[in-house]
Amino acid sequence: MITAKYSLLDRIMIPDYDSPSQMQTGELDFHPERCTECGICVSLCPGGCLLTDTTTKTDLLSGKARGGKYGLPRVVTTKAGATLCIACFDCGAACPHGAISIRNNFNPGGHFKRITQTSNVRYPKQY
Ligand code: SF4
Ligand code: SF4
Repeated sequence: MITAKYSLLDRIMIPDYDSPSQMQTGELDFHPERCTECGICVSLCPGGCLLTDTTTKTDLLSGKARGGKYGLPRVVTTKAGATLCIACFDCGAACPHGAISIRNNFNPGGHFKRITQTSNVRYPKQY
């Protein structure tokens, strides 16, 4: 049986998702020479953390942008060194042109130890 040790602080501290000192958030590289500005990545990001300078909410809801171009995507930054991206790479997997790569992975650091920091991962209990 795995026994993980958690301090009282571990148990009560709520992580600050906007603080680079507490967690490393995702950063992506977009390759404009491959991007056709189709908007797929912006529409499907589960965290809503992709924007372009030209896409409006109406464009996303209607599925139509002026001239069929949604603009070059970029990741929303919340503070210097922090974004809303969890580096799930849904956007990159869906991009038809391979125009996205991950530069910096999401790492919650000292938080969520059960997932990231146990030496031995157990399967969920089966009923
Ligand atoms: S990696 Fe995931 S969270 Fe980050 S921008 Fe792409 S779809 Fe959104
Ligand atoms: S899915 Fe790929 S080609 Fe389409 S806007 Fe996003 S990065 Fe550009």
